[in-house]
Amino acid sequence: MKTKPSKLLERKNIALIAHDNMKENLCAWAIKHKAELGRHNLYATGTTGYKLESATGLSIQKCASGPMGGDQQIGAKISQGDVDMLIFFWDPFEPMPHDPDVKALLRIAAVWNIPVACNPASADFIIYSQLISQDYERQVPDYESYIAERIV
Ligand code: PGA
Repeated sequence: MKTKPSKLLERKNIALIAHDNMKENLCAWAIKHKAELGRHNLYATGTTGYKLESATGLSIQKCASGPMGGDQQIGAKISQGDVDMLIFFWDPFEPMPHDPDVKALLRIAAVWNIPVACNPASADFIIYSQLISQDYERQVPDYESYIAERIV
């Protein structure tokens, strides 16, 4: 599919998710970066969101819990352009009952070309990037031109 430019604004919409064994890591990471995170709009799956709010005092828009559909809700927000960065500390050691949802979320993040971090090191690289506080133009699928070529 062809692509077209789409802007990530200076104030980003950041989704934060951690599997149970990774929640402490994400809370520690969020405490470390509280000042920067506070400059953006934050979203999370349910349990992650409550834990992050209590650890940091930041205000977070909470979706359903991941296994109850929260990962899919975050994925829907990505495809609607309402979430433009994903910090997702998924657990590499445990199979999850909602593995298909996790895979779907990572796939949709790739489709919409948003930055994704899967662990504290990659999340550090993203948050320390100068692009975190700037507008950034990335390429996204151009569905309008795709459908226009097919519907005459
Ligand atoms: P939770 O969901 O934040 O509700 O624990 C995360 C997940 O398991 O995807």
